Amino acid sequence: MKYCPYCRAALETQVINDLPRRVCPACGFTYWNNPLPVAGAAVIDERGYILLARRSVEPRKGYWNLPAGFFEWGESAEAATLREVREETGLEVEITGYLTSYGAGYDRDPWRSISYIFYYARPIGGVLAAGDDADEVRFFPPDELPAAIAFPSNLVALAQWQAHRKAGLPAALGRGGDG
Ligand SMILES: [Zn+2]
Repeated sequence: MKYCPYCRAALETQVINDLPRRVCPACGFTYWNNPLPVAGAAVIDERGYILLARRSVEPRKGYWNLPAGFFEWGESAEAATLREVREETGLEVEITGYLTSYGAGYDRDPWRSISYIFYYARPIGGVLAAGDDADEVRFFPPDELPAAIAFPSNLVALAQWQAHRKAGLPAALGRGGDG
């Protein structure tokens, strides 16, 4: 951010709490540069297979990822997850548990960062069809995942899923939150 959104003065960089911030010398506005939240889901069906979408857009076009996306204004993480899964895969799902979170710099702009939260979910309706940002959507067996997985956040989430499977967590095995 170059200019103050309130008074349009040129911002300066100051280190506050060990991190560089953009500060307005005229009015005192501080741009804290908090991470952007992204929410998504490991949708596990009754066979224990996981739903992945193949990206039809950059970055990582042709790579597979978990359905996920940025929050809309005022959304909860759960509501963002349900909406993103519906938009990207056509499926209605219910959340069955918490998977993991992850924080990292944004590929295309290291000044920005993203905080990811991933839930477990299971299908309860809809029709599987590639939607926004995807050209194929498919359930994969746990031992036959595609090699081309997009983004470190997805690798972390999939590794946590495998750990939860080994531990017998019901949500990770597609048995929902009640097993
Ligand atoms: Zn200002």
